[in-house]
Amino acid sequence: MKEATALLAKEKGAAFVLAGGTDLLVRLRTGFIEPDLVVDIKKISGTRAITAAGGGFKIGAAVSGAEMGEHAKLKKAWPGVVEAANLIGSKQVQGRCTVAGNLCNASPAADSVPALVAAGAKANIVGPKGKRTIPVEQVPVSPGRTSLKKGEIIESIVLPKRPPKSGDAYLRFIPRTEMDIAVVGVGISLTLDAKGVVKDARVSLGAVAPTVLLVPAAAKAIIGTKLDKTALDNLAAACSAACKPIDDKRGTREYRIKVAGVLARRAAQIARKRAGGK
Ligand SMILES: Cc1cc2nc3c(=O)[nH]c(=O)nc-3n(C[C@H](O)[C@H](O)[C@H](O)COP(=O)(O)OP(=O)(O)OC[C@H]3O[C@@H](n4cnc5c(N)ncnc54)[C@H](O)[C@@H]3O)c2cc1C
Repeated sequence: MKEATALLAKEKGAAFVLAGGTDLLVRLRTGFIEPDLVVDIKKISGTRAITAAGGGFKIGAAVSGAEMGEHAKLKKAWPGVVEAANLIGSKQVQGRCTVAGNLCNASPAADSVPALVAAGAKANIVGPKGKRTIPVEQVPVSPGRTSLKKGEIIESIVLPKRPPKSGDAYLRFIPRTEMDIAVVGVGISLTLDAKGVVKDARVSLGAVAPTVLLVPAAAKAIIGTKLDKTALDNLAAACSAACKPIDDKRGTREYRIKVAGVLARRAAQIARKRAGGK
């Protein structure tokens, strides 16, 4: 990894990391980018592994969506993150695409990112000046741009230890049944207490702003509740209020704002069920 960052840092022209290549190669083939250097990270030690870390999981930067879906322990602990990763593209894309690449491509509609943000995932970054770790929501800064500095590579994504009675879920709306870009995506992770009251939650929205959003007001709306109707109404209202979407051919502003609330309600109920709640 050190050599890879050194190569990227010293290149004076356009330099890119290649993970699965399902974004990069498309942009290269269509002439959007003309790289002077491409560094393939797939054969760097550790990048293809999912390992236990601090009671949670460390997902190497070249682990594919398909490999995440085949990892029984990861799927059991973080079903929402895995379902989001497995929504990316088709079977063919799944064999290559990575969540780190999804994050670094910095699309506001990236499917795995709201789930990772809701999960409280962190990105381990290696660069010419050493290592640093940041919350994943700090990686994308605007459509197509990240906070990564020249020469920096995400080495792995870390999912934290799961307290008992926790669940997560990711839902997206697309006009087709698959292979489309999210009109809205919602990731929710929550933990219940022994009485089924939500004691902790994180809510994240995709495709409704220039970057994926963490919405603390939406989490606040459900913490301390049993997700009764009022709590779900408040959650939906907080999600809709956080949206700053664009109009495009997939959906109007108003439509996205409405759908964000609808999906948030449904995702919260799925997460509760997965946490063992009724
Ligand atoms: C047919 C098709 C369907 C698709 N469907 C979906 C979909 O439903 N949902 C969705 O969200 N996306 C979709 N995508 C987009 C794409 O598959 C995802 O964004 C995927 O997760 C990208 O991962 P990758 O490993 O292939 O990234 P790459 O193409 O390798 O890289 C993407 C960008 O991130 C940078 N990068 C990659 N890894 C790192 C790293 N470790 N450190 C620093 N920079 C890095 C690269 O330099 C590049 O700029 C689709 C793409 C195709 C071609």
